[in-house]
Amino acid sequence: LIVFLFSCNTKEESGNNSLREQEITHKVDELMSQMTLEEKIGQMCQYVAIEHIRETKKRMNGKNLIEDDQAGMYPGLSTDELKQLIRDGKIGSFLHVKDAKEANELQKLALQSRLKIPLLIGIDAIHGHALIKGSTVYPTQLGLSATWDDDLVYRVAKATAKEVRSTGMHWTFSPNVDVARDARWGRSGETFGEDPQMVSRMGVAFTKGYQGDFGKDNILACAKHFIAGSEPVNGTNAAPMDVSEHQLREIWLPPYEAQVEAGVYTFMAAHNELNGVPCHGNEWLLTDVLRNEWGFKGFVVSDWMDIERLYQTQKVAASQEEAIKMSVNAGMDMHMHGPDFLVPLAELVRKKEVPEARINEACHAILKAKFMVGLFDEPLADIERSKAILFNDEHRHLALEAARKSIILLENKNNLLPLKGVKSILVTGPNAANHRLLGDWTLPQPEENVVTPYEGINEVFNNAKVDYFDSGESLLNPVDRTAEAAQKAKAYDAVVIVVGSNSLRYENSEKTCGENIDRANINLLGTQLKLVQKVYQANPNTVVVLVNGRPLSEPWIKENIPAVLEAWEPGAMGGIALAEILAGKVNPSGKLTMTIPYSVGQITQAYNYKPMHFFHKYRDEPWQPLWEFGYGLSYTTFDYSNLLVTNKVISINEAVKLSIDVENRGNMDGDEIVQLYIRDNYSSVTRPVKELTDYKRISLKTGEKRTVEFEIPFNKLGFYNRNMKYVVEPGEFTLMVGGSSNDKGLLRETINVQN
Ligand code: BGC
Repeated sequence: LIVFLFSCNTKEESGNNSLREQEITHKVDELMSQMTLEEKIGQMCQYVAIEHIRETKKRMNGKNLIEDDQAGMYPGLSTDELKQLIRDGKIGSFLHVKDAKEANELQKLALQSRLKIPLLIGIDAIHGHALIKGSTVYPTQLGLSATWDDDLVYRVAKATAKEVRSTGMHWTFSPNVDVARDARWGRSGETFGEDPQMVSRMGVAFTKGYQGDFGKDNILACAKHFIAGSEPVNGTNAAPMDVSEHQLREIWLPPYEAQVEAGVYTFMAAHNELNGVPCHGNEWLLTDVLRNEWGFKGFVVSDWMDIERLYQTQKVAASQEEAIKMSVNAGMDMHMHGPDFLVPLAELVRKKEVPEARINEACHAILKAKFMVGLFDEPLADIERSKAILFNDEHRHLALEAARKSIILLENKNNLLPLKGVKSILVTGPNAANHRLLGDWTLPQPEENVVTPYEGINEVFNNAKVDYFDSGESLLNPVDRTAEAAQKAKAYDAVVIVVGSNSLRYENSEKTCGENIDRANINLLGTQLKLVQKVYQANPNTVVVLVNGRPLSEPWIKENIPAVLEAWEPGAMGGIALAEILAGKVNPSGKLTMTIPYSVGQITQAYNYKPMHFFHKYRDEPWQPLWEFGYGLSYTTFDYSNLLVTNKVISINEAVKLSIDVENRGNMDGDEIVQLYIRDNYSSVTRPVKELTDYKRISLKTGEKRTVEFEIPFNKLGFYNRNMKYVVEPGEFTLMVGGSSNDKGLLRETINVQN
């Protein structure tokens, strides 16, 4: 076969940017010429903020502590000593600052330092500025990706940046561009799902929304976690990852490369090892691929105490000093959290075991970030302005729009939904009347800023009698109130049961999802399934709503329950959006971006599996997932016809042009997500049975028909061959277009790439 090779280095800088960059570079050089070695390393040191330590300590005294990882925050370091380190210019960055007031307090200390270099303040604002009280909480990433709406996702990031920046913070540890295919992993909900193309596009939208042109309302983004931490061997967070370079380049690396192309300024290394080498000490990853191959110009931050873990846990280093040397020499620029960095690193430089050039490189990139975001001009937050920005009307509406578009209708047998003309509704289930719909990385939000599912249903169904039955909130140690719930359910026209998981950080209660909360099974915990079964027996008009941070699987629910909605964690306005969908005021339009497997045994089956995958099927279970990637129902029906490819024979560098007609055949206006998949039919290495290549979200009125056009750039037809070269091979390809990845509904056409 003849192949077409591509060179990856095509990045060029625009004129304006390079002028601004030159000015900044000059300022940084000037500043650095006055800095001591300790001050330069100081810029590489990041600490957790004081109030956060106090609050975590308080939480640690409570029962059911999950975050034992955070024990012994700063052994032997008092608050006064920490403050002195700031005044001495030995700290360059903070994370987890409580609010604008604390940000300003810290900043004022930094301004007392010899060179008055302000602090760069980072936070996990991953679906809104949710670790800050009074902010807007949007759906979690998995929910946002279910909208298939890049522009919406961009707007969410932009609004988030505005809130973050207003509180005196300049950097978010987001987007998470891990490809998630293992539902046991508790962080699945923090991702954009299982498809590299989807994750790349959504990730780029996030980064562009956050960073913009680094204006006053923008913040730095951080692509994390580099790399492949989303598929740990046993599903538990940070467990080893062993994967071929081929798979790495096909599945995990593309979203990160797209981040570099989009100009993301920071990267965070992953907790896990990659093929025997921990990411935090992996020179191939942090230097060869990231900087030399992709041309990344920003800085890399370590993840929480992971440099320490090179020595303490993974044991590729025999001391803390050796761990620091390994990590910094591999390309690490900033140390997240803790005092054990500056002194040993300075010593390593003096001993010439870490080149001073490495310190200069890291310090330069960090200072450059501080100039880029305008921190030297305006180091302090305007607290009054911040109050007007947090959870303002515009952001609240955006949260509602996102929630509406993210909720997925999984089942609607006999068109039970929408619930028209019902006079009474019973709402129950462990996630119906609390803040679990806010998701992970969220601290308490004011009651009045959050609409729970029960509150939303109460508000939207204002002509019906809406009651709540408290079935108990505990998922791990429930009291069985299923019989009472069933008894009560008989008297209502319909019952809505909200089940799922709990990712909330602040409840001193049992998290069942989130970081370090992985599962061996993906069923509903506790008495939830029993509750659904009993209530359904008592009242067949039962709707199940899932509020959860990872795919959960109960085949019985799919087979029996007439209406099922997947809401993921839809954020502060989720309760309203959900109720509007139940009432038919909003037509559901979300589609799955992560397969919901039939059982744990199917993991890691994603829609883009390889040809032999199901040559022999399972003996004991169906091989199809419960619900597949790209799937989601609507209250209307969309009809696909007339797939036309303009150029069926493709020459080198020619784009493939195609169109398809989509018609709304039902009697409700609605949005459809038109998906384009492709397969290389014969190739020198095996290729997936299909891969998502493009998608478009469209709105169609009842009876409206639209021609949707796609253009596939030539290089999107390629893959890594046996010599690890990215190539497009001549021959036959199949294009597939439809409303989900399920073969049944896809229209097909064949094209040929010619020599
Ligand atoms: C997580 C990161 C996060 C960091 C700071 C780590 O445990 O893996 O995603 O950004 O903590 O909160």
